[in-house]
Amino acid sequence: MNYRNFGRTGEKISALGFGCMRFPEVEKDGARFVDQDKVDEMISCAYENGVNYFDTAPGYCNRHSEEALGRAVSSFRDKILISTKCPLDAGMGREGYRRRLESSIEQLGTDHVDFYHFWGINRGSFDDIILKEDLLSEAAKAKEEGLIRHISFSFHDHPSAIKYIVDTAEERGVKLESMLCQYNLLDRSNEEMIQYVNEEKGLGTVAMGPVGGGRLAAPTDLYAKLTGKPSIATYELAFKFVLGNPNLNCALSGMQTLDMVQKNVKVASDSTAFSEEEWEQLGKAMEEIKKFSELYCTGCRYCQPCTMDIDIPRIFEMYTYYNVYGLKDHAKNMWRDYVRRGGKTFDDCVGCGACEGKCPQHLEIIKNLEMVCKTLAED
Ligand code: SF4
Ligand code: SF4
Repeated sequence: MNYRNFGRTGEKISALGFGCMRFPEVEKDGARFVDQDKVDEMISCAYENGVNYFDTAPGYCNRHSEEALGRAVSSFRDKILISTKCPLDAGMGREGYRRRLESSIEQLGTDHVDFYHFWGINRGSFDDIILKEDLLSEAAKAKEEGLIRHISFSFHDHPSAIKYIVDTAEERGVKLESMLCQYNLLDRSNEEMIQYVNEEKGLGTVAMGPVGGGRLAAPTDLYAKLTGKPSIATYELAFKFVLGNPNLNCALSGMQTLDMVQKNVKVASDSTAFSEEEWEQLGKAMEEIKKFSELYCTGCRYCQPCTMDIDIPRIFEMYTYYNVYGLKDHAKNMWRDYVRRGGKTFDDCVGCGACEGKCPQHLEIIKNLEMVCKTLAED
């Protein structure tokens, strides 16, 4: 197993982290439960092969994940790092934070949590709940009492909010020590902030969704296409990319089977797998390949804002996945998600032309937008 310094927390973390959100389940009397025997087997295998970071949350696996993890690691609890999360609700107050922490500790059958996250925060919840309800002070108090070893956060928002959150907490006298965020070959939007928090602020960094939330899990010839080298499994490519980033300390994978554990452990133990050079090469290759697309959008966003609020670069990006990387299902999922969230499409375009004059690639945006939206919406 490869290990990295986990930011400046003083911990060494395994390159592969075990995400405990997809434990195998069994059905009993019409209800679903975690299959503890299988979980024990998977967790032991990971531990014996050097995985030392296990990430859970109160809501995972019908609220059984923390308990199942606690049982599975009970004989080697002090040799590993347990990460779990505090769900945030307006009005929960400092007492609510404390109650949730104590409940997690009890479920896990331990006496402390190594990394306790403010769960899935954005700028709004940071301001309106964490700051307003003084949860940072409660977290600091719990740390002083030894219930938490490190204060962490997991993140879902525009990358610019990361700097605001980390810097503001620091100004209030509380150092956030690790960050869990989305990062993979298909979604590099947090890359700059990962570098900022890790290099400048010393936070440990963990990527969730290193294989694109499972969407990249199917084998394709992407690696061969990107590097000209023999093809490898796409999950391997995904790990290579994430762990090649020198500012990223750990890739979390939500493993469901023993086979998955064994495969991931093998990749994360290969010392030749994650050179920074290969990481840069993959990133460049990804860009190069895009250039051969008949629709080469660099994502510069000069065409924004569109008169009708259509996110043109986002839609063109989906087409790149569809057309250039051959990840058709992934592109269509992105499209469905975009539309479900109320994203504007070609149907809303009024043909004003304000976008086309601003595009450095001189793309015929209106014509392409029509073609792309039609393609992605097809069943
Ligand atoms: S032409 Fe359509 S896509 Fe371009 S700015 Fe106008 S409304 Fe937006
Ligand atoms: S200006 Fe052109 S290249 Fe830049 S994001 Fe818009 S469509 Fe893409």
